[in-house]
Amino acid sequence: MSNQMQERPPSAATPTTVDTALTRSSPYGTLAEPTYSGVTSFLRRPYRKDLRDADVAVFGAPFDLATTNRPGARLGPRAIRSASASLAWCPPYRWGFDPLERLQVVDFGDLYFDPGRPAEIPERLYQQVRDILAHAVTPLALGGDHFVSFPILRALSEQHGAIALIHFDAHSDTWRDDDGRVDHGTMFFHAARLGYVDPAVSVQLGMRTFNEETHGFLVWDADRLHRDGIDAALQAIHARVGQRACYVSFDIDFLDPAFAPGTGTPVCGGFSTHEALRLIRGLAGLNLIGMDVVEVAPAYDHAEITALAAASVAHELLAVLASRRA
Ligand code: MN
Ligand code: MN
Repeated sequence: MSNQMQERPPSAATPTTVDTALTRSSPYGTLAEPTYSGVTSFLRRPYRKDLRDADVAVFGAPFDLATTNRPGARLGPRAIRSASASLAWCPPYRWGFDPLERLQVVDFGDLYFDPGRPAEIPERLYQQVRDILAHAVTPLALGGDHFVSFPILRALSEQHGAIALIHFDAHSDTWRDDDGRVDHGTMFFHAARLGYVDPAVSVQLGMRTFNEETHGFLVWDADRLHRDGIDAALQAIHARVGQRACYVSFDIDFLDPAFAPGTGTPVCGGFSTHEALRLIRGLAGLNLIGMDVVEVAPAYDHAEITALAAASVAHELLAVLASRRA
């Protein structure tokens, strides 16, 4: 598909400086395109189902049927893509390189599932992530409610064994429940129980909702993170995770509602985007095998605050991944 696109001569009617998600000749690097128009792939990456030569597949998981409070995260991927247009023209701040020159990042589009057959959705998501992994491509998922992490971790753990989880959230998402339920507040309990993740090498950050059990995870709750600070948290993360294969799961409600109003279950007393981006940058050096940014619910957003924060977190995660591939 890419070869055909390259061979087609550009014309005035199909300029290659707009709709670059479809028209770009190189999959690498940044291109300037009007931020307010055009096909809004994530960071203007090429839209592509062919994963040959790709390093990262960004995909939407527009699923919110596991939400326990306000719904709407199914509209998250579209909002994050739209907000990402304003980030797509230059590399992220403070890295000194362009992650999109080092990694071939494609927008794989959205995973398809039938909301009328909810019991089939986890399996479908798992199978599609397996397909991505079969191409030796790293998945970056845009949620969707947080349950989407669960089938992704299942697929990744088949390759890597029990994974180190770095989990940003106002909620632990490890509340106990009965086997077989699908819920965005319990899936990390099941992920630990089933051996998808190894709590002994995992860290949870930002929690500020009651859960008397940690299930063996290292929990830096909101009070501790506010008190001890970003640098101490990063030291703890690196000491805990080391070079284990690790997955970063970023629930946007890690941020304070002032910085992320557009989410289903906001909790006061959280963190700023500055603090979040510093934490993400500090993950450089870890062995990332996958990541997600979830729980963006645009109906409750204002001025794209939440969608832009999510796009920025995802952009920084790509830089973390690229930092190991000089
Ligand atoms: Mn969550
Ligand atoms: Mn949450």
